[in-house]
Amino acid sequence: MLYRDSYGSMALRLDGRKVAGEIEKCLKDGVSSCLKQAGRPPGLAVIRIGDDAASAVYISNKEKACARIGVKSLVFHFNQDISTQDVIKEIEKLNRNELVDGILVQLPLPKQIDEAELLKAIDPDKDADGLHTLNLGRLLKDEEGPRSCTPAGVMMLLDNYQIPIEGKRVVVIGRSILVGKPMALMLQSANATVTVAHSRTRDLASLTKQADLLVVAAGKPRMIGPEYIKDKAVVVDVGIHRQPKPIASASSQGGKTLLCGDVCFEEVSKIASAITPVPGGVGPMTVSMLLVNTINSWKNHCGLSLRMTDLLP
Ligand code: NAD
Repeated sequence: MLYRDSYGSMALRLDGRKVAGEIEKCLKDGVSSCLKQAGRPPGLAVIRIGDDAASAVYISNKEKACARIGVKSLVFHFNQDISTQDVIKEIEKLNRNELVDGILVQLPLPKQIDEAELLKAIDPDKDADGLHTLNLGRLLKDEEGPRSCTPAGVMMLLDNYQIPIEGKRVVVIGRSILVGKPMALMLQSANATVTVAHSRTRDLASLTKQADLLVVAAGKPRMIGPEYIKDKAVVVDVGIHRQPKPIASASSQGGKTLLCGDVCFEEVSKIASAITPVPGGVGPMTVSMLLVNTINSWKNHCGLSLRMTDLLP
């Protein structure tokens, strides 16, 4: 089988870190080759509100990725108790700022903030996360525009490993605007037959057992075990959870938390033909797609003749 590894019995690891590294290399070359013509580097503004610990890690990863490929990142960190209107004023300034090509609001937000209002305030052409209503509509209609980063990253990863999608039975677990819904649309556009499962779905296993490709974005640690998996299915685990490490390993391996996904990786690996690890699967691909959206917007703002298809491996 094309995408099974040489061991035969264990699933192929879909290595998002490696693919993201290859994408970054292409993007870096593209940015440096157009820098003179553009007269300025691409710019990404990141809005952080409050002190959510996981957000700090995600933002730091995004800043580092920007630095590696030559994108200038600016982080705007606001107090936990800022109002929606005050953040919107800042977003409007960034919309007018000619050095900024992409704007993203790091989620989750404090309770008093109206997330939908913030996302709506971002100029759709600077929508680095692809979550603006207009861009979700563009996705629905198969029109060009910034795509939601996580599902776009999943598509890119599958494409990189030449995993066939057309005509396949796909189940997406989760129907959020961030992941599940755009994921289902992208897979449908790639000619899969897609079923979306959610918290009110009955007898989930009977659906997932039919899936040639299962994408899990339920936000529930290790919810999906081998009993949900069709033999030789491809499994994409979008979930990310930080869990306390057992005390013995916490002291020996540095750090007190362990990352896991929505899928029981070891057990499911014995049945699946291919699977994404957590960490190192979908996460790095999400960051790559953020860079792709920002550079695409830079290309449009600076009138560059750069073709995104030439920039990707
Ligand atoms: P969410 O909580 O907004 O949505 C979860 C979805 O799962 C909902 O639609 C819900 O109906 C469904 N669901 C919950 N329990 C279920 C069950 N028992 N059976 C079937 N469906 C069920 O979460 P989200 O924002 O879509 O994120 C999902 C996960 O992906 C989270 O763990 C999040 O941290 C992770 N995530 C990872 C990345 C990445 O870059 N890797 C990006 C975004 C989100």
